[in-house]
Amino acid sequence: MPRTALLQGFTFAGERWSLGSLQNGIYRPRRFAGPAAFTLLTAAHAPGQPAPYDDDIDPASGTILYHYRSGSIDQADNRALRAAFVEQVPLIYFMGVAPGQLVVVAPVYVTSDDPAARVVTLEVGLPLADTTPAGLVSPPDARAYALRDVRIRLHQQRFRINVLRAYRERCAICTLKEPALVQAAHIIDDRSPEGIAAVINGIALCAIHHLAYDRNLLGIDPAGVVHIAGRLLNEVDGPMLKTGLQGFHGQPIVVPRRLGDRPDPVRLQTRFDLFVAAA
Ligand SMILES: [Zn+2]
Repeated sequence: MPRTALLQGFTFAGERWSLGSLQNGIYRPRRFAGPAAFTLLTAAHAPGQPAPYDDDIDPASGTILYHYRSGSIDQADNRALRAAFVEQVPLIYFMGVAPGQLVVVAPVYVTSDDPAARVVTLEVGLPLADTTPAGLVSPPDARAYALRDVRIRLHQQRFRINVLRAYRERCAICTLKEPALVQAAHIIDDRSPEGIAAVINGIALCAIHHLAYDRNLLGIDPAGVVHIAGRLLNEVDGPMLKTGLQGFHGQPIVVPRRLGDRPDPVRLQTRFDLFVAAA
């Protein structure tokens, strides 16, 4: 979600509530009767800059480290964070994935507090739809499922944002720059082990070229040259086929300026083999 939505907040019982604080990270509304925080936020760091905090999901334990604010451990925000552990209240965590873009993780619970290290751990709880009036039910597989869902959403968001940024929001084949039509395509499907959510496994493509790539009607060889499937090359149709597809046969794609963002030739080859096999 865009961070503007966070600032707009929501209306409840005729009163306006903010969802959080972009400056402070830890947010407890003044009108709250209880001592615990309501939302937490980690801002995204600027591209190429080191992250200010390592507030990310630990792959082994599934926990998220969340750091205290600077200053005294007894200052108001840190008290609200620590009270969330004592009271075990559900929190909303906004995880910054790119400047201005947040992924919502909710509910999360503070499951440990280490004042010496100035850090708490967060764990993803079950969606409210999976709870019963008798209280939280949390079979381990349901929690693992909730965590996996958060991970997938984070990966997909980061992948999309990073790929589009690397390609300056343009289709690598036709250079279309309409945000509603340009997408981040995977070279190797993200369901296979090589299908990592990194820019080198992605290409920004417009909707028609993305679909043509996914359906093996269009291939991109390891040198970055576009190939149109033989059966489309020999067809006669209107301008979409002639200009939009046949016209790019043998043309190079437009790759990102940064070497480290360019598509991985090994992955391109693996994928191109599938295209050739399908033809
Ligand atoms: Zn295109």
